[in-house]
Amino acid sequence: MSRFHWTCESTDGAARAGMLHTAHGPVATPTFMPVGTVGTVKAMTMDAVRSTGAGIVLGNTYHLMLRPGAERVRALGGLHRFMDWSGPILTDSGGFQVMSLGALRKLDQDGVTFRSHIDGSYHRLTPESSTDIQHALDATISMCFDECPALPAPPETIAASMRMSMRWAARSREAFVQRTGYGQFGIVQGGTEPDLRAESVKALTDIGFEGYAIGGLAVGEGQELMFATLDTTVPAMPHTAPRYLMGVGTPDDLLGSVQRGVDMFDCVMPTRAGRTARAYTERGTLNLRNARHATDARPISPDCDCLACSRHSRAYLHHLFRANEILGPMLLTWHNIAYYQRLMRQIRAAIVEGRLDELATTLRANWAAEDWTEDEMPQPAIPPVP
Ligand SMILES: [Zn+2]
Repeated sequence: MSRFHWTCESTDGAARAGMLHTAHGPVATPTFMPVGTVGTVKAMTMDAVRSTGAGIVLGNTYHLMLRPGAERVRALGGLHRFMDWSGPILTDSGGFQVMSLGALRKLDQDGVTFRSHIDGSYHRLTPESSTDIQHALDATISMCFDECPALPAPPETIAASMRMSMRWAARSREAFVQRTGYGQFGIVQGGTEPDLRAESVKALTDIGFEGYAIGGLAVGEGQELMFATLDTTVPAMPHTAPRYLMGVGTPDDLLGSVQRGVDMFDCVMPTRAGRTARAYTERGTLNLRNARHATDARPISPDCDCLACSRHSRAYLHHLFRANEILGPMLLTWHNIAYYQRLMRQIRAAIVEGRLDELATTLRANWAAEDWTEDEMPQPAIPPVP
């Protein structure tokens, strides 16, 4: 079994193409992790997820501890077996969800007490219990339990929160049971304050983790400030470990963050958009509910090999969403995850070939087109159903 480590294969500017080696197999980076909050990537079978080329998925401690419960998942063979995903799984620590419960939670220096959004029952998460739950789920990558303050906030509030998260990171590390091929990531906090981010990076690297995440971004600060924060934070992070930007983002966010040295991402955008008729494409986004798709026989994207594009027209997708048929979200989620995975493969290949800036210019010009025009696209070749 491979010990948990990350190897760098190529660099292009600050961008890195690498390989993450884990107990559950390798993952090429940069990588996008589809979000499987409650043990399912919503509206997709795991075979569909695999067919997109996804190498690692995300599970959610908060949701799984409440339902069905971490001990039940353990008794049923762990999360991999439970959800039929043999590849690596990263679990978040539950911190972010608990913090967003607002009035339903009470924070102290030791942890957080909160009421379940499902039945109102009381629960408690601490760095130790979060780490134990992630172990019970058999997460390949566990995350430290941290606090993520809402932005904007005064610098002293962000500083106090970050320092508590660093104390919690040390406790999370203490509670983590080392196993071959498994890893635990520390989470850099500090809002958009470069000094606080630097202090956080130092605190985490002094503890020592298998990887490092950047938390507390994509919470409403905007892309410009997010990129500025990455510009000052990422260069200070260890060069030999994977870097994970949590909860990000749009295709353009991913591209810009890879250019700044980030290796791993997760976001609900492609799956959530798939349930609301929104398609990501090489030419920007499409709203399949729009009436102009009603008679359009072309696929969403001629470059996509997902089931939606290889077998169905935009008109059919439009019809499914108008009729509130469950197949609409299923097909479009599949398409969106396939698009995100294809984008990451394109980006990785460009890093290896030393032409990431060139690819970035092309991608951004194409995304700005926002939609296909009639004369840009060859007329459809919808393959006949065998
Ligand atoms: Zn597609």
